[in-house]
Parts: sequence; structure tokens; C-alpha cells
Amino acid sequence: GGEVRFEHVRFGYDPDREILHDVSFTVPAGKTLAIVGPSGAGKSTIARTLFRFYDIQAGRILIDGQDIARVTQASLRAAIGIVPQDMVLFNDTVGYNIGYGRADASQAEIEQAARAASIHDFIMRLPQGYDTRVGERGLKLSGGEKQRVAIARTLLKDPPVLVLDEATSALDSRTETEIQTVLRDISRKRTTLVVAHRLSTVVDADEIIVLDQGRIVERGRHSDLVQAD
Ligand code: ADP
Ligand code: ADP
Repeated sequence: GGEVRFEHVRFGYDPDREILHDVSFTVPAGKTLAIVGPSGAGKSTIARTLFRFYDIQAGRILIDGQDIARVTQASLRAAIGIVPQDMVLFNDTVGYNIGYGRADASQAEIEQAARAASIHDFIMRLPQGYDTRVGERGLKLSGGEKQRVAIARTLLKDPPVLVLDEATSALDSRTETEIQTVLRDISRKRTTLVVAHRLSTVVDADEIIVLDQGRIVERGRHSDLVQAD
């Protein structure tokens, strides 16, 4: 499962100022949709309405055919995992940060999620491994390492829908490439919405929509859009 569908969605943080104007798209289960466009176009707003951080003013948002306005917050949160640009980690151990929100998770499950996020190796190089505190003096995790912890936390939840909200844009370019490889792997079998600044980072997407001032102005595959440039 995991099909995501926006039908004629209209939304404004302030009802007098509409931000998303009649936005419609479908991401079939297991496929990847990339949302690109300039800063302020409304990309993150799409992600926030999917989470129901805000309720839309018109249209419908459906996951597997179910209107998200009619499902509980708990099941919506179980269905969607987000890897944001800058996940706030707790000043606690790496293991706690990965397992956060999943009090029932065993050490083996946490390690499995860490392997899938390609962080097992680097964690094992830390003194005390998973027991190392994230914020410890002299052991501060790099941006890329923090992002891997955030990815592992999301993978532990194993959500059918994944939202990558500019998940690599705060990283230097080498780390960005590394993390993108991890994300490409984990998005392969999940429905994935990727919010990105640049077209060059979403070459593999099954569909790309270009958003400008809250409207979809172009859509297609990477090769179509590059030719149109
Ligand atoms: P993008 O992700 O494409 O950079 P956003 O979705 O963050 O764009 O923002 C789209 C528009 O919504 C912008 O005009 C922005 O100023 C406005 N906006 C974003 N967040 C809020 C908010 N919490 N309250 C009011 N306006 C907001
Ligand atoms: P859960 O415990 O099910 O992960 P939360 O309420 O903790 O639910 O978080 C809801 C979603 O928001 C989760 O997918 C989580 O990964 C994401 N999230 C957590 N922290 C942040 C953050 N600082 N910024 C953006 N998204 C976040």
C-alpha cells in the first residue's frame, strides 16, 4: 500500500491568503514523486498538509483511497515517516534517538534499522557504540551522521510513505552524495515524496512536479523537464 493522492487541494495558513492553488497529483504505491521549485513555492506546505499539521480548505488528500481527514492522528503518523532537513536529536544516546517513539523496539531491531540506514559501521566506531551520547563533548556527530540517525529512526517505524523534505540540502556536497545513495536505497520499496531545490538531485524520480507560487507549472520525468529547459 501507500498510494498518495492530492485532489484539487487548496490551502492557506491564513484563509485570506491561499498558498496552494488547486494542487492535484497521484503517487502510486512504491513510486517516487519529486517536488521541485523555488523557495517559497509551497513545497514544504504540501508535506505539512499531508501530515495534517494543518487542515486544507478545499479538496482532498487520500492515502490508499482513505481521506486523511477521517483517519486518526496515530494511524497517520504510523503511515508517514519524514526525514526533515535538520532533525532535532535528543541529547541522549544514539540508540535512544533511533528508538525514540518505539519503546517496544529491541536492540536487534534498532541495529537492523541502523544497518539499513548505513550507520551501523560508523556507530560501531564510536566509543560504546549505540550508548554514546549524541551531544557529548568531543564526540559531536557531523551533519551527515545526524542525518543517518534521523533516517534510522524513520526506518525503524517502517512507514509505507516516506517524505524527504530537503533532507540533504544542509550537507556539504560529498556528504550529500553519500546520504542520497542511502535515501535512494530506502525509497526503492516505499512511496516517497522528495522535496528538493534542484532538479539535478532527483534524476531517478518516477515523476517530478515543478511548483511555482503554489501552482504545478510543469510535470514529467527528469529527461522531459531537462529538455524543456
Ligand atoms: P517552499 O517549501 O517551497 O520553500 P513553503 O511551503 O515553505 O515553500 O512556503 C510557501 C509559502 O507559505 C511562502 O509564501 C511562505 O512565506 C508561506 N508560509 C510558510 N510557512 C508559513 C506559516 N507557518 N505561516 C504563514 N505562512 C507561511
Ligand atoms: P512518531 O513518534 O510516530 O515518529 P512524532 O510525533 O514524534 O511521531 O513525529 C511525527 C513525524 O515528524 C515523524 O515522522 C518524525 O520523524 C517527524 N519529526 C520528528 N522530529 C521532527 C523535526 N524536528 N522536524 C520535522 N519533523 C520531525
